[in-house]
Amino acid sequence: MATLDTLKKALMKKASATTSTGEQSLSDEQYSTGFDFFLKEPAWKAYRDFIIPQLSQLLGPLFQSRLRISLLEIGPGPRSILGHLPNDQKQKITKYTAFEPNRLFASKLEDWFRSKPFPSLEHAASINHSAFTPHVDLYKTPSPQAERFDVILFCHSMYGMEQKHRVISKTLNMLPRRPSGGMVVVFHRDGLQIEGVTAHRTLTFPTGVVTVPDTDNDLDSFAQFIAGSAAQDDALRASWRDLCRELGLCDTAHPDKISFSAPEIMVVFTRTSSYTGWPTQSVKEMKAVKNREACRRLPGATLQPKDIASIQNRVQWALCKRTGVTVLGGGHSGHCLWPSISMIDMRLLNEVHVIVAKNTMSGSLVVAESGCSTGDIIRKCLEYGLTVPLGARPSVGAGLWLQGGIGHLSRLHGLACDAIVGAVVVSVDSGKVFSVGQVPDQHRPRDAVQLEDNNLLWGIKGAGTNFGIVASVTFKAYPAPTYTVRNWVLSFNDLATAGAKLREFDSLIAQGLPKSCSADAYLFWNQDRLHIGVTMFETSAVTSCVTLVALTRAYKILGPERSIQIVDSMGVFDTEMYMSEMHGGHGGGKTSSFKRCLFLKNIGENDIATLLLKAIESRPTALCYLHLLQGGGAISDVPADATAFGCRDWDFACVITGVWPRDQDGNKQATAAVRWVYEIAGILLPLSTGAYGADLGPDPRDAALAAKAFGPNLVRLARLKQRWDPQNVLSYACPLPTPPKDPKLIVLVTGESGAGKDFCAAVWTSLFTKNNITSCVSSISDVTKRAYATATGADLNRLFGDRDYKEQHRVALTTFFQNQVKQRPQLPQEHFLEVVHGANSDVLFITGMRDKAPVVAFSHLVPESNLVEIRIEASEEIRRARRGLEAVDDTHKDNEGNYSPSVTISNNSDGKSAATAAFSKHLLPLMLPSLQRLKDMVRQIVDFPKTDINFRHILGVSQSRGGLSLCISLLQTHFTGGWSQISSIVCVETGGFIFASALALKVDVPLALVREGGKLPPPVVSVAKDVSHISGLTGNKEQMIEIEVGVIPKGRKVVIVDDVMATGKTLCALLKLLIKVGVDVKDIFVMVVAEFPFHKGRELLYKEGFGNVSLQSLLVFRGA
Ligand SMILES: Cc1cc2nc3c(=O)[nH]c(=O)nc-3n(C[C@H](O)[C@H](O)[C@H](O)COP(=O)(O)OP(=O)(O)OC[C@H]3O[C@@H](n4cnc5c(N)ncnc54)[C@H](O)[C@@H]3O)c2cc1C
Repeated sequence: MATLDTLKKALMKKASATTSTGEQSLSDEQYSTGFDFFLKEPAWKAYRDFIIPQLSQLLGPLFQSRLRISLLEIGPGPRSILGHLPNDQKQKITKYTAFEPNRLFASKLEDWFRSKPFPSLEHAASINHSAFTPHVDLYKTPSPQAERFDVILFCHSMYGMEQKHRVISKTLNMLPRRPSGGMVVVFHRDGLQIEGVTAHRTLTFPTGVVTVPDTDNDLDSFAQFIAGSAAQDDALRASWRDLCRELGLCDTAHPDKISFSAPEIMVVFTRTSSYTGWPTQSVKEMKAVKNREACRRLPGATLQPKDIASIQNRVQWALCKRTGVTVLGGGHSGHCLWPSISMIDMRLLNEVHVIVAKNTMSGSLVVAESGCSTGDIIRKCLEYGLTVPLGARPSVGAGLWLQGGIGHLSRLHGLACDAIVGAVVVSVDSGKVFSVGQVPDQHRPRDAVQLEDNNLLWGIKGAGTNFGIVASVTFKAYPAPTYTVRNWVLSFNDLATAGAKLREFDSLIAQGLPKSCSADAYLFWNQDRLHIGVTMFETSAVTSCVTLVALTRAYKILGPERSIQIVDSMGVFDTEMYMSEMHGGHGGGKTSSFKRCLFLKNIGENDIATLLLKAIESRPTALCYLHLLQGGGAISDVPADATAFGCRDWDFACVITGVWPRDQDGNKQATAAVRWVYEIAGILLPLSTGAYGADLGPDPRDAALAAKAFGPNLVRLARLKQRWDPQNVLSYACPLPTPPKDPKLIVLVTGESGAGKDFCAAVWTSLFTKNNITSCVSSISDVTKRAYATATGADLNRLFGDRDYKEQHRVALTTFFQNQVKQRPQLPQEHFLEVVHGANSDVLFITGMRDKAPVVAFSHLVPESNLVEIRIEASEEIRRARRGLEAVDDTHKDNEGNYSPSVTISNNSDGKSAATAAFSKHLLPLMLPSLQRLKDMVRQIVDFPKTDINFRHILGVSQSRGGLSLCISLLQTHFTGGWSQISSIVCVETGGFIFASALALKVDVPLALVREGGKLPPPVVSVAKDVSHISGLTGNKEQMIEIEVGVIPKGRKVVIVDDVMATGKTLCALLKLLIKVGVDVKDIFVMVVAEFPFHKGRELLYKEGFGNVSLQSLLVFRGA
């Protein structure tokens, strides 16, 4: 199905070519009839799913900040779209003016206003039966009396307007100067080009569709509406109808209808938008944008920095204009250029510097400015006998290495992003320049702030298009190999034989290859036959025995190779099968393409091979193909959370590539190929182990892929985005979610089968609800049940609700989960996060947890939630009775040992009494409003004591009026042991002293002071302590801490009180000290005012053998 833009061009071309007496403007009636097609389904979907919700969201902050809102609507049609806003927004509208030149629409609009759609209007709506001409001039200061509007809407009303940029610029002057925040919003069908005005945001709805009944009358009305003029003679009308039938889609489900693709666009301008100050270069002239979709767009401004200072300058300009920004690297994605958004074109920053290590090549570095292409880097490196693992095409740019970068060296050296050791980045928050990781001195800008922590570097390695403008990256270099490239092409008559061959290729050839080799496969059709192409890249100088075995198998399975070439790092670019063999080499001419990439494992299982072959059989154009790039090796050696590129566990990256002849851009073939790519991606997604983030953007069809793009790293990335790009200036890169608000309290309800976990969790949820605290229960095993049902075809509803059915599947389900974990050890973490992020409540109870020491394992994943474990116990007899005779107790019992849950309760009695008592004693206190009051007293100081540290001033609580007494009373009441049994409150200077002293006074328990070495009188016992997280930043490394001998009575219980637990090093040292003076580990309790789970303090305690120590914290904060 062609786009409306393509149809319009074709209709106009036909009209101008005809010898007929011509066309004339549409009458109001003709316009109205054409417009009606867009008010019906499926076209209405664009309003329902895009325009209305987006408008409501965009206007939300403005409406909230004003008591009265004035509106100007240009071309609203028969009723205002704002009538669909929520009531609280409609009630704010006090003034409404419209310009509606169509007299039919204008009078219908007047009728509509009789029903008082905006109840707070102070005067009757002013509806002008005329076209809009802005009454202020950009270059003249508008008179103070000039009419102003908070919101000005162009509703599909810019068609035919000359000099759209001047109209917009003048209209911007109709927004109030103060208070600021007003906006001009244009919605339009895609294809709108407003030259020279930068927008604040551009949003698109690419999936809009309009349908027309296939009758001559309807097609005539529709065609003239789209062409914008009425056809005067029958011949033109007939040829317009033919064009509609030729370009539109008539599918078998609706043979009486013709559909067209009708993508929508919404562009938002603010008062600061105005003229760009920099001319917009024609993108076609630049020829830098290779992506066909991006090529059709016009940026708001093209900014071409020559150095870092000019990037900073451009960023500052964009920030003050409040405009979004895109960055042009190699121009291969659809996101380097967005309509009306400023584009920073990096092409002038294209130097490559090679720094050869003095003694060994392995320490050599390559600094590449981000305007370089892959070819630039490889060519320069080759002069030094070096290389960097990049991609397969020389023209691809920085987007590749910032988002992953899969190539022929990936199995040997890892992804391109894995080779990044440092970067220079211009912040899109401040315009400052930062250097992160290892950047050679001579390539670090003088004013660059060196970041001490590697958080940003972590994010750049896989999601690097999201946080700032990357000016350069430093790669570690490798010796340049010589490649031996072998190609095979096999053709098949049937899918079954091809499927068997593909499975053999995977299991017998690819899986047996050493890291120095990789084997890719191409699935395509040529001359009515299915083909499988295989390319094997061998990088070692001498063929190893393992390779020889694999090669022998390859010859047996694939026959003799069609070609064999020995090439260098530049020559390898031309050996690509797509370039050299398929479809006559590169499609045999000019083509356009659209790709999405998913990661697959075990393609021989779950019938993935058959699905792939069926996918290629269903291709909508002859040129579409699937490319399987081999993974494993060094890619999977890197842990999933070590870099932002979190999808490491795959055998093949499957690039679904929709290709069509370039002259068919915007036509049926193009839209069908894009649709096919998304359809196949949708089929493969549940079977995949992740998706490649490169090229994903704000398109709603990318959302499901983007959610799987970064494996377990999504939340950390979302938080990094908030830190580095809080205004979402780079909003056109691979979308990251807004960081979820995790539940304040997460309770892991554990215990043996039949102890009453689900029962207690249900009781607690209802008790929280009674206390006006939102709460829900989720079973972590539900995630496994879903995956199990998909893989085996089991009935998911019955797995959830039918106890007998569940019992039948219990063993298989457990085996399934265990196998999954064997393949993906990080799966329990992913499941945990899936459950947490799925909850939308203050308190979440998680049941079905089988992990060892779960609070230790998971607390750093939810660093802003209080995570506790309540274990429920019941006697064996009672548990057996509750389980029923048939049921098996397969609960893991390895929770015991060096680990204790936060609380253990006994649930032997029938009824709710045990659960209710535990609720009052252990749960409700964790949600007291006084805890939030205490939290609010903790001031946050950004970039202290170093850049990128958000310091929480816990000790500052004692400086707030009432702070210390509130904190102490909470410490006193929250303690789960009994104060009467405590002989000493142990504290270490400085933080601990303040809180412990006040608490000691309150509970009447003496202090046991722990001080730095040399400060207490002998005899003392001492241990070495690593300095705390924050003190370590000032350079100290290790110190001794001491306690006086005999200060703690033998055999008594103690409580350690401290201000903070972050890395756990101080606490570990304290625990070691107490054990050294003879305190039994089971007699030690710990209470801290604030915990920073991000630093995995509990993990350290657990590893050091202190997992049994009861540790309670009043507050939790995300990383300091
Ligand atoms: C023909 C072709 C071959 C490909 N081959 C491979 C391959 O072998 N291996 C592989 O892994 N991928 C491959 N890809 C995918 C490729 O990695 C992505 O398309 C990538 O986004 C292209 O980067 P670019 O710089 O060329 O494109 P651009 O469109 O210029 O940039 C892509 C994204 O990066 C952002 N960006 C660019 N520069 C910067 C910067 N300096 N700072 C911040 N953001 C920036 C852009 O704003 C955009 O969002 C291929 C794609 C095509 C079309």
